[in-house]
Amino acid sequence: MENLSNIGTIKDILLRHGFSFSKALGQNFLVNPSVCPKIAEMGNAREGFGIIEIGTGIGVLTHELAKRAEKVVAVEIDSRLIPILEETLAEHKNVKVINADIMKTDLLKIIEEEFEGLEVAVCANLPYYITSPIIMLLLEKRLPIKSITVMVQKEAADRFCAELGTREAGAVTVAVRYFSTPKMLFKVSRGSFMPPPNVDSCVIRLDINETTPVGVEDEEFFFKVARGAFAQRRKTLLNSLSAFLGISKDIVLDAVKKSGLSETVRPEELKMEDFINVSKNLKIFLQG
Ligand code: SAM
Repeated sequence: MENLSNIGTIKDILLRHGFSFSKALGQNFLVNPSVCPKIAEMGNAREGFGIIEIGTGIGVLTHELAKRAEKVVAVEIDSRLIPILEETLAEHKNVKVINADIMKTDLLKIIEEEFEGLEVAVCANLPYYITSPIIMLLLEKRLPIKSITVMVQKEAADRFCAELGTREAGAVTVAVRYFSTPKMLFKVSRGSFMPPPNVDSCVIRLDINETTPVGVEDEEFFFKVARGAFAQRRKTLLNSLSAFLGISKDIVLDAVKKSGLSETVRPEELKMEDFINVSKNLKIFLQG
C-alpha cells in the first residue's frame, strides 16, 4: 500500500481495525514520509540482501525495505498488527511476517532458512524499552550479518556510538566497539511519530567487523567485567568492579595495577585495551 506514512491513511487503517497504541510495547509509529526510505537506503536494503526487521508497526518501514531488498523477514510481537499487515503489505510477495518476541526468536535459523545465498542486514525502528537488550542479542550471537541499522532514542544513540575513554561510554559501548564500527546517520524529531515520544531519536548503523579484538580468551567474563566496571559509574573502577563481582578490593587492585592503571581510574577513562587487560589479569588472580 503506497502512502503508508500519510497520517490520514494511518488513522484510517488503525480506526478500521480498532487498534489502540500500546505504550508498554514501545509503539510509536513513524508518520514522517522521508524517514523510512532513508533508513532502507542507508541500511543495505538492496539487491543481493535479505533484511530482518524488528517491530513492524503497520509496515511503513517494511514497505520501503521490501521495495529495495530481495527479501524481508519481519518479527512483530503484537498479534493485533498481523491482520493490518496482511492488508498494508499485500503487494509484497517477498515479505514474511513472524508474530513473535524478538528476544525469543532463533535468528540464526531464520538466516539459514530464509536468506540462502544472500547477504543479511538488520533494519528497525526499535521499541525503546528494550533497545540495549536487542542490540546485545544481535551482537553477542555473532550472527552472520553485515550491518544493524536502527532508530533509537538520541541518548541511547550517543552511548552506542561513543568512543571508549569518554564520558558517554557505557558497558554497551564496549560490546558495540568489540563487534562493530558504529556510525551516527541522522536525527529524527519527536514530531515524526504517532504518538510522539518525549525525546528525539537518531538512526545509527553498526557495521559488523570481520574480526574481534585480540587478547580476549573468555568473552563471557570480559563482558561481565565491562558491566561491572560501569555498574556504579560515579565510583572508581576499583570500587565498582569489586562490588559488582563480589571480589575483594585487594584482588581487583592487583589486577588494575598490573594493567597499568591507577587506583583512582574511572570506568569512562578506559579504552578497549584496558578492559581486555583488566579482565585478563583479574582472571589470572582469580584462578591463581
Ligand atoms: N516499524 C514501525 C514504525 O517505524 O512505524 C514500528 C516501530 S515501533 C517504535 C516498535 C514496534 O516493535 C512496535 O510495532 C511493537 O509492537 C514492536 N515490538 C515491541 N516489542 C517487541 C518484541 N519484543 N519483539 C518484536 N517486536 C516488538
